[in-house]
Amino acid sequence: MAQTNARALRGQLLDFIDDPAEVGAAASHRYHRDGLLVIEDGRIAKASDAQALLSELPPGTPVDEYPDCLIMPGLIDTHIHYPQTQVIASYGAQLLEWLQKYTFVEEEKFGDPAHAAAIARFFLDELLRNGTTTAAVYCTVHPASVEAFFAESERRNTRMIAGKVMMDRAAPAALTDTAERGYRDSKALLQAWHGRGRQLYAISPRFAVTSSEAQLQVAGTLLREHPGAYLQTHLAENHEEIATVRKLFPNAKSYTDVYDRCGLLGPRSIFGHCLHLADEELQRLSDTRSVAAFCPTSNLFIGSGLFDLARLRDPARPVRVSLATDVGGGTSYSMLRTAAEAYKVLQLQGQNLPALDAFYMMTLGNVRALGLEAEIGSLRVGSAADVVVLDPCATPAMAHRMATIGDDLEAILFVLMTLGDDRAVRATYVLGELAYAAP
Ligand SMILES: [Zn+2]
Repeated sequence: MAQTNARALRGQLLDFIDDPAEVGAAASHRYHRDGLLVIEDGRIAKASDAQALLSELPPGTPVDEYPDCLIMPGLIDTHIHYPQTQVIASYGAQLLEWLQKYTFVEEEKFGDPAHAAAIARFFLDELLRNGTTTAAVYCTVHPASVEAFFAESERRNTRMIAGKVMMDRAAPAALTDTAERGYRDSKALLQAWHGRGRQLYAISPRFAVTSSEAQLQVAGTLLREHPGAYLQTHLAENHEEIATVRKLFPNAKSYTDVYDRCGLLGPRSIFGHCLHLADEELQRLSDTRSVAAFCPTSNLFIGSGLFDLARLRDPARPVRVSLATDVGGGTSYSMLRTAAEAYKVLQLQGQNLPALDAFYMMTLGNVRALGLEAEIGSLRVGSAADVVVLDPCATPAMAHRMATIGDDLEAILFVLMTLGDDRAVRATYVLGELAYAAP
């Protein structure tokens, strides 16, 4: 008798066990050309060659067949704003103007819980349609926006990290809290949601322009009081922003120092962008094991600058790096498109991003940046079965290109990341349940 909660996926299994940039391509991943992923109770029970496993499969176990697709751990996005689904593709402004002109206008609407709930539904549909099963998400200043997001994520059982944006200045009155209210509201949300089911909380001061020193201090207090929580904010995205921060915090040694003095650096802290940093700042990020989130489509679209991956990874003071979309400054929900733009950003600086490195970043690399490798990010037995199925022949142009490639895995992955997007996602599973299937 088959267990009713068991199922299997058959196709090309690929996952990572380590960083190809460190251990080399061959030792970094596992690949089964004809593999079988057996899922029981939402967890991966077996992952190996189909021929070996099929005979052991209890009769009647449903097998979803994806013979020409890659079956991988779900993709991970380490920096995205759910209230910006109707900000994406806003024309012609750089960071500070873009915030005032487009973003704050949309974020004000999240005072209405019904609006927040509707957008949270759209947003999570869109993530799953793009194969993203976990993300670090900014909500708005309104506690209701966080409630709406977590409620929707809990309904789908997705592993999500999110938090209330803290802003106590330089934004419309409807979007500001105070240091005290930011602390109180964040703490209440954190206590309600952090570790409830699969939901995790991120303390989220937007950035140093919109948070006073007092507010950044209480963010640091929250982090000390709740060491299991995350901290997410923005750092050194744009030159005008950096000049503003210098004026607002004349006593700080640098932009990074503004956060550092408030105790915001650390292994569970994710800093969006990190484009224009001095060596001493990178040293501090390295010393504290903080994470820099590389958001290439956003950096190009808002005209912020080029992320210098080689410099951040300087072995003398390596900074942990993750990859992220940063929608709505970013222009795509797709981590595949994001990897393609990361490749181009690095090419412009004479650097490279091999396909294996890119797929490592989108999966295990980002999961390690979030400290969640015990639960997700690989096809290891016991891992949560958050899985994406990618079709390298999803479009005529991809199929046409693939005809010249044969069985070369790295070439197949490079086609997927260069030409692929949401159309390449055949299916997405959350805890072993089909959460999205391509029409
Ligand atoms: Zn952002």
